[in-house]
Amino acid sequence: MGKSKKSSKKALKDIPLEITPENKCSFCVGSKCCTYITQVIDTPRSKADFQHMLWQISHQNIRFYKDDDGWTLLVDSPCLHLQGDGRCGIYHERPGICRDHSNDYCELDAPAEDGFNLYFDSYKSLLKYCKKRFKKWA
Ligand code: SF4
Ligand code: SF4
Repeated sequence: MGKSKKSSKKALKDIPLEITPENKCSFCVGSKCCTYITQVIDTPRSKADFQHMLWQISHQNIRFYKDDDGWTLLVDSPCLHLQGDGRCGIYHERPGICRDHSNDYCELDAPAEDGFNLYFDSYKSLLKYCKKRFKKWA
């Protein structure tokens, strides 16, 4: 699950304790991977596809990225089960995707953006891409 742009590596380096899989998440301020959802989308090809995405990214908390798995819609929205102390409020019955998520090398180690081929965090950034991709963009 992927994504603060602040240097997580520096944060880890500054921690004097040994980081283990068991205690690692307790050092993760804001529990990054529990603060958004993602959904793979059909690869956008036409102007209409990108016009639709421009409409979507005009709304709050919407981003898009493309990585080796394809194009993905990302919605920043903290999980309702995330507790103030960073723990999961439904830990023993959390969804499978949460159970499958490994903290072995995660967003506390490096920003998810590092693995993106394309990344759009604003209407402006996506529009710029559209104008570059389509010779006639109107
Ligand atoms: S898996 Fe990684 S990003 Fe998620 S809460 Fe644990 S340390 Fe933070
Ligand atoms: S259910 Fe628990 S582990 Fe899953 S995203 Fe929500 S707080 Fe995180």
